[in-house]
Amino acid sequence: MIHARQALLASGWAQDVRITVNKGRIEQIAPATAAQPGDSRVDTLLPALGNLHSHTFQRAMAGMTETRKAGRDSFWTWRELMYRFMDRLTADQIEAIAALVFVEMQEAGYASVGEFHYVHHQRGGAPYDTLAELSLRVMAAAKETGIGLTHLPVLYTYGGAGQLPLSEGQMRFGNEVDRFADLVQGARAGLSELSDDARVGIAPHSLRATSPGDLSSALALHDDGPVHIHIAEQPKEVEDIRNWLGARPVEWLLDKAPVNDGWCLIHATHMTKEETTAMARSGAVAGLCPITEANLGDGPFNGPTFLETGGNFGVGSDSNINISLTEELRTLEYSQRLRDLSRNVMVVGEGSVGATLYTGAARGGAQALGRDAGEIAQGRLADLVAIDSTDATLCALTVDQILDGLTFAAKDTVVTDVWSAGRHNVTGGQHIARDAVVTRYRRAVADLLASL
Ligand SMILES: [Zn+2]
Repeated sequence: MIHARQALLASGWAQDVRITVNKGRIEQIAPATAAQPGDSRVDTLLPALGNLHSHTFQRAMAGMTETRKAGRDSFWTWRELMYRFMDRLTADQIEAIAALVFVEMQEAGYASVGEFHYVHHQRGGAPYDTLAELSLRVMAAAKETGIGLTHLPVLYTYGGAGQLPLSEGQMRFGNEVDRFADLVQGARAGLSELSDDARVGIAPHSLRATSPGDLSSALALHDDGPVHIHIAEQPKEVEDIRNWLGARPVEWLLDKAPVNDGWCLIHATHMTKEETTAMARSGAVAGLCPITEANLGDGPFNGPTFLETGGNFGVGSDSNINISLTEELRTLEYSQRLRDLSRNVMVVGEGSVGATLYTGAARGGAQALGRDAGEIAQGRLADLVAIDSTDATLCALTVDQILDGLTFAAKDTVVTDVWSAGRHNVTGGQHIARDAVVTRYRRAVADLLASL
């Protein structure tokens, strides 16, 4: 049981509530002025966000690509280094890095994650004896740390737009549709080791890494779980797709694929106004990764048009250059302010930007991950986060200002507790498996550096 001094319920703010959790779900929400013995007592309870887009292994290269080399710095040169780095990783290292990332995410206030998983094979591209070995390693990390996992095995068949062959650096990703289907089956088998809120979806990596025919074959084989795709991160990508398929990527996808509310379009960055409104109307979630998109110099999302059209959005930490829920939300808003020379952009009409971003990302994140969560309501998964509103960064604010304070003024250290489908994984601001996970990660990284 959880007793909260105040809680943001689906119906709005409530004071003094007691929440009963049973089998991972919220069974009852009742007013209660006092906690009962054995209750977890918290200050301010919020629905916890799902982190809808992550490549965990990239966390271990954070900080390695921030030194300028004349004429050589772009998304595409970053990607070269990422490929070289990734090529060294062993299965043990991939699992150790994933566990650390899942600990950091939960300490930042996320209860769940969409792991967009594209490293499938051994160095050079030979499959492991167990085809889905690395999916199972990510799942083991999720089990160890208790995060709610939506695992998204990636279909990556070609090295670039127009069905180019895979490059040397991409051999660990590659699958034709048939083997990909086997791999997804292998990942699904791994669900038996996880609690029943875990899911498996699919992720055609991007239009440049698949073909129209392969995409429809992969979709025809897929009857359960979300579909995620990188869609329009870089102007070069938009140009390459237009030259090949005769339409911009979002335009092409909305026209040719059955995009609906089970889809999540990652990096819907470079869109025309028409694409933006059409995507909002499709019901798909815009998977926004503001910190990574800033770090890679991708560009800002067209937030005002998308929100005005009623679009769904959520946030993801993508490259995991920095895992911070508060920074993710404020970077999203600040990217809009810097472009528009304006303030309070990510809200329709009048209202709180923090509340719009937080509650929107909670609902959109849950939708994108296929999780029955995103708000505190009876019957939903108990994906919950508690923050300390008596922290110096928040203590002067009224209850209606708390989400603005959390988004713009606070650090993630105001998070005290996180439950993922009722699993109480963060307490006192620290993940219960932190020490063991960090120790193993340090060893894994030392081995990795020694191999470089
Ligand atoms: Zn990504």
